Amino acid sequence: MKQTWTKHDTPAPTSQKVAYINTRLFDPESGLDSPGVLLTEGSVIADFGPNLFSDGVPEGIETVDCGGHILCPGLLDIQVHFREPGQEKKETLATGSRSAAAGGVTTVVCQPNTKPVLDSVPMLEYLKNRARETSLVNIRVYAAISKGMEGKELSEMGMLKDTGIVVGFTDDGLPVMDSLLMRHALSYSSMLNVPIAQHAEDLRLSNGGCINEGAVSTRLGVPGIPNASEAVIVARDLLLLELTGGHYHVLHVSTRQAVDAIRAGKKRGLNVTCEAAPHHFTLTDEAVMEYRTFAKMNPPLRNEEDRQAIVEGLKDGTIDAIATDHAPHDQESKRLPLTKAAFGIVGLETMLPLSLKLHHDGHMSLRDVLAAMTYKAADIIHEPAGRLKKGARADLTLLDPDHQWTVDKDQLASKSKNTPFDGDAMRGRALCTVVAGQTVYTLS
Ligand SMILES: [Zn+2]
Repeated sequence: MKQTWTKHDTPAPTSQKVAYINTRLFDPESGLDSPGVLLTEGSVIADFGPNLFSDGVPEGIETVDCGGHILCPGLLDIQVHFREPGQEKKETLATGSRSAAAGGVTTVVCQPNTKPVLDSVPMLEYLKNRARETSLVNIRVYAAISKGMEGKELSEMGMLKDTGIVVGFTDDGLPVMDSLLMRHALSYSSMLNVPIAQHAEDLRLSNGGCINEGAVSTRLGVPGIPNASEAVIVARDLLLLELTGGHYHVLHVSTRQAVDAIRAGKKRGLNVTCEAAPHHFTLTDEAVMEYRTFAKMNPPLRNEEDRQAIVEGLKDGTIDAIATDHAPHDQESKRLPLTKAAFGIVGLETMLPLSLKLHHDGHMSLRDVLAAMTYKAADIIHEPAGRLKKGARADLTLLDPDHQWTVDKDQLASKSKNTPFDGDAMRGRALCTVVAGQTVYTLS
């Protein structure tokens, strides 16, 4: 199989019309699932439906035969680390965006824990320009909640949002430990209409742990991170949310206790959303025995009861979105003892098949799985994306949910190869990725 990436330096001209024919049109929000045709004009979706061009595509319109495969809204991954600026040897906006495109992802949200931190207007303007020059997909950003991510003083949130690339705020990589600072951040969230995204971890409780606290950490004789480390921060933040209003979002939820707290918060009518990463509903801490540091991430892989709670949370809608926490690290950062190695794995190119496994295993409908990576993810960050809609930006993913392939880390587009799934059989893959009406990736 050959992968091809294309970077377009100018927007698609409005005169450019492309008809995607012989598709299975799939829109998770409306429930549309039907053979049909979709027409793009320039960078937007002009029309689509089962009966469009039923007498044939008019002359002068370019056609793309989709081979009967699913054409759905482009996927979003609302949590990635592209390491630019500061750690370009691990990943850049260019290489990260190639990885996204290969995974069928058309919009990503980069985290602010770069060097320097994304906490100022000049840094965000710089990133916006770099994205325009080098990225194949739409780049959005969570700016830092606190200056320098030091957890002391709020960043100039209003001014940062006005740069137009900021869709929310987080200190991800680190939690906001200070309750008063979190209260103030949540208050701004309602004024600015953006989510405050928390890396929920009580650093005192984590106490230097490197994997989940449980049977495996005991067996390996390494310090563990208890479930309570995540859950106490989520519980505290929900109480603060009740006080302030605003929108609170929990990043990469990993424990049963946190899922339970969020479910109860939603029942109380709080504006809380959350996301889960594919590794947390696919693997448990047993994987650390086999994959060693390639299964070390933060939050850590938990036990089977937690893994099932994540699946349940996705099934009943407590967990809104699937996001990868794509965290590239080079060999030197990973080939270290378990206690010293960096946290994190790359995830963009395995997100779709690992998520589709929930469908293949009978846990969720195809519609619900794709919803968690399209409109439901888009709604968290107020991005006008994730839907097949006339006039919407033509971000599209052509995918085959049954395509069989094997992960080969050397074939990953990401600059870093730190995946625990190397050599694993996958089912489901993106065949073509379209951003603003232009093809950026094809698998042929
Ligand atoms: Zn995090």
